[in-house]
Order: sequence, then C-alpha cells, then structure tokens
Amino acid sequence: MTFYFTGIRSFPKLWKSNSYLGLSSSHSYLSLFLKDCYGIRNQEKWFSVKTMSAQNTNAMNLLIAKARCVRKLDEGSNKEVSANSSHMFAAGAAKKRSQVNPSKAPVLPPVKNVIQLPTRPLNSEEWDKLKEEFKEKANFENWIILQMVKCHSSVDVAKSVLAWVAAKNNGIVGYDLLVKYLYLCVFHKQTSEIIDVYEIMKARYKRLESGAYTLLMRGLIYTDRWKEALLLLEDFKKVMIPSKKNYDDCIQGALFHQDVNVAWNLYQELLSHDIVPMLETLKAFFDFGKDMKDDQYSNKLHNILLYLRNNQLYPGESFAHSIKTWFESIPGEQWKGQFTTIQQSGQCLGCGKTVESIHLSSEEYEFLKEKVMRDVIDGGDQYKKTTPQELKRFQNFVKYRPPFDVVIDGLNVAKMFPKARESQVLLNVVSHLAKQNLQVLVLGRKHMLTQNSRWRRVEMEKMQKHASFFFADNISEDDPFLLYATLHSGNHCKFITKDLMRDHKACLPDAKTQRLFFKWQQGHQLAIVSKHPGAKITFQHILSYDTVVQTTGDSWHIPYDDDQVERYSYEVPTKWLCLHRKT
Ligand SMILES: [Zn+2]
Repeated sequence: MTFYFTGIRSFPKLWKSNSYLGLSSSHSYLSLFLKDCYGIRNQEKWFSVKTMSAQNTNAMNLLIAKARCVRKLDEGSNKEVSANSSHMFAAGAAKKRSQVNPSKAPVLPPVKNVIQLPTRPLNSEEWDKLKEEFKEKANFENWIILQMVKCHSSVDVAKSVLAWVAAKNNGIVGYDLLVKYLYLCVFHKQTSEIIDVYEIMKARYKRLESGAYTLLMRGLIYTDRWKEALLLLEDFKKVMIPSKKNYDDCIQGALFHQDVNVAWNLYQELLSHDIVPMLETLKAFFDFGKDMKDDQYSNKLHNILLYLRNNQLYPGESFAHSIKTWFESIPGEQWKGQFTTIQQSGQCLGCGKTVESIHLSSEEYEFLKEKVMRDVIDGGDQYKKTTPQELKRFQNFVKYRPPFDVVIDGLNVAKMFPKARESQVLLNVVSHLAKQNLQVLVLGRKHMLTQNSRWRRVEMEKMQKHASFFFADNISEDDPFLLYATLHSGNHCKFITKDLMRDHKACLPDAKTQRLFFKWQQGHQLAIVSKHPGAKITFQHILSYDTVVQTTGDSWHIPYDDDQVERYSYEVPTKWLCLHRKT
C-alpha cells in the first residue's frame, strides 16, 4: 500500500528536515531488550542500540557492573523472602528451586544487526550514501526505520528518512514507513506530529490495520481531540475486538479528562467481551477515586476488588498502595491500612484476624470432584492416558477399600534421590506414614515387581504389608489414578507427588474449576523436604489459609505481588495489605 503526499496540507511541515552529517565510526553498542507492545510487526526482539562514543566505554562498563551489583542485591532479598515462606506454592519458590540447578542458557543473546544510527537528520545525499553502505539490505528504507523504532530514534531523524523517500518517489511514502514514523511520534509524545499523521491517514485511508489504530488511539488520548480516539475505537470494533491495552488507553484517557461515565462504560464493555483487564486499568480507577465522596463510585471500586477475588488475581505493589490510599481517603470511614504477612496459623500479623481457610466447603469439593472425574479422568482422551479396561479395574479396586488418608505417586517418590535405590526410598516413606496409622495407597507400575538393582523384591513385599498397592500397566499415566483415588477418598485425603499437575489443571473446563483445583491442590499436596535418603522424612507445611482477596465488611485482606519477587502462575503471593476500620 502506498501513500501519495502531493496536495497534503501538512507536507512542508511534516517533511521539513535539517541536513547534518552526524555519522562517526567510533561508537559502542549495547544490547537492549525491546518489549513489543505496540503491535508493530516484524520487530526483532534483540537489537543493538548506539550508546556513546568510544571514550565513554569505561563509563558504560561501570554502569553495567553497577547494574549487576544491584541485581545481586535483589537476588539476596528474594532469598530472604523465600526463606520466610517455605511452602511450595509461595511466590519465588520455583525460582529458588531453579537456582539450585541453574540452566546453562547464556545470559546475553548474540548481538545482531549492528548499525550506527544517525543522531541528527540527514539530507538526501547523506541518506543515499548510507544506503550505498548497506546495499545488501533488500529494502533499506524499511529496514533503517525499523532500526530507528527499536532504538527510539528522535522524530526529526525519522522525519528526514520520510522526506528523502518522498523526494525520490514523487511524494509517495509507503504505509509501513508512515506507521513506524507514527510509532516514534507516539513514543516521544510529539502531539502535533501525531495529529498531522492522523489527518493524513484519515484523508487517505478508509480503514487502517490494528497497529495504526492502536497507535493513533494512544497518541490522541492525551490531546484536546481525545474523543476522536473513542471514535477510532468504535471503528476498530467493526473489524475486531479491541485488546485490553486499547481499552486501557481509552479508559486512562477518559479519566485523565475527568469523564468518569465514559471510563466506566468502557470498563463494562471490556468485561462483557470476557477480556481480563490490565491491572493498570484497575489501578487508574482507584487513583482517580481518591478523596471522592460518591457511593456509586465506591461500590464500583468494591466490585473491582471482588473481581480480583473471583479471578484469583493479585494487585502489584504500586496498585496495593493505590488501594490503601483510596480506602484511607474515604471521608468519615476511618480506614487504616498496613502492609503485613499472614502467620502459618492463618492469623494476620497486622490485625490478628484469621483469614479464610484453604479447605474447600463440601459443595466446592463435590463440584470439583465431579469436574475432575469427568474432564481429567474419563474425558474424551482417556485412551491416551489409560485403557478403559484398566480404568475399570482401578475403579473397582478403590470402590472395595475404605477411604485412604494418603495417596502416593510411587514412581515419582522413589526417584526423589537419584543415587539411592528406588525401593529403599519408597519403603522409608511408606513405613513413616504407616507408623502414624494412616491408610496409605501407593500407585505403582507393573515393572516395580520385577526384581532388579533398583527394585528389590524383599523391600516391595515389606511395603505391601503396610500399604495398599495398585500396579498399573507400564504405559499408563499415573496422575489420573492419583487424582481419582484422592478425590474419591474424600476431603481429608492428601497426596504425595513432586509433580505440580499443571497439565491437568489446563484440562479443566473453566476458570472457576481451575481455581478450585488450585486451591484444593495447595491444601492437599504433601511435599517431602528431606535432604538425603537416610534422613528422617519431613513434609513441607501445607498452607492452612487461602491466598485470595477477601473481606468481612469492616476489614479487607488483599494479597499483593512484591515488585522484587518473580512469581510463577502456580505460586501465590506472601505479602498482604490489611485494611480495617477503626471502631
Ligand atoms: Zn489484618
């Protein structure tokens, strides 16, 4: 697609460029990571950006060394946090586990496409000369502006590329070049340039693609013509559902211009599309609500908190601060907030109240049990996991035995210490549990019964006196049996495996069931923390409380993500915001 510049009002203004030769060969380069959040395609994630001339290399090295030093300090603080919270679902626990066996992946990616970008606008001769230097590039114009986008070059320099291209092609500039130029204008918040490009696009194209729409909305929302961004959103909706970032831009813009109704309407619309809003969007509503005495607005903010609860979402640190500030600003309600942690018993260290239990109610338990039985165990792909005959054999096996207290994934547990004999390790665990008079079920494979160096017959026989065993075919998957036996035994029954069963969670049909599964897993999965095969068997403590946004009316407890801790999706935060009303 091309664009004809002749006759456009803003041509002289838009394409006027200074001429200046600003190239030098003594530049150093630094690899940076570019987050492609603007929808511009064909961007390579890794790129080189010119930093400073050679004499500054030492200063740069010093900066890099400093950054490393800061990172080390951060890692130190992570360890402290993790040490305070030893359960396996605690935020940062997976990262800590992975640091025991760090992957050998290189820290820095290879540098590619090293180019010295001009720092000042060039005239046509200079662009011709530069193009000659890079004649192996098939489309130099597109390539160079892409490099500028990646390095966030100044708008003036980018404009000189467009002026040069327009001069060569009778005023024609390709659509792609124009959109990338727009990206730079938006990035540098050059409002008048954004409006010029917007006018050109409006005059020339009936409809744009999503990248240009997104950029124009973002660019216009903080100008006097912000309502036109909403018209663009309407236009966009005729073709596709806007992204959460599109809604975020428009909502933030509406709040910036004090149009609360437009902001809430857009928010409702976003929810009606089943889009999970960005946390930034939700934070913006809290920030705007400060010192506002409006019950309707307050109710809506309470609904946002309940939305976080129902979707098991957690605010980040700065969002948590916004929530605290908003509560404390409500006139006449006397809320007091504090950042705190929850004790193992479930008691809040801030106010002393006990937070919600991790245990599922009997309705929740029955609901989850039914879903897991149907979707994970005999769901459509049961033949992949086991045969119907084997499943039937297992179901009968479970049916004619009293409920179990602990179900063990035998193979998984036996392989806990790679150097120890598998049957010995499993025997230790089974004997330890049997001594406590627990009804134990071990799920195993038929090959365990074949005497060899890893599986001793005498140890297998000893175990079978203390526990029930079910031996599946060697090709079966263990997890469905583990889930079935545990859920069938009842809400008290725990299970032991190192597996985090993310695959099964993914099989579940909806977010509600997945959340229940996660809650059940946190409350029922036992993890062995013994360091070596001969050591006394000890289990990691199971959280007794549920990490979720919750309220009792005159108090709120809100878990939040610490900026310093990287949390995996199957972990929960360990920090809380405790809010209560002075009475
Ligand atoms: Zn509290």
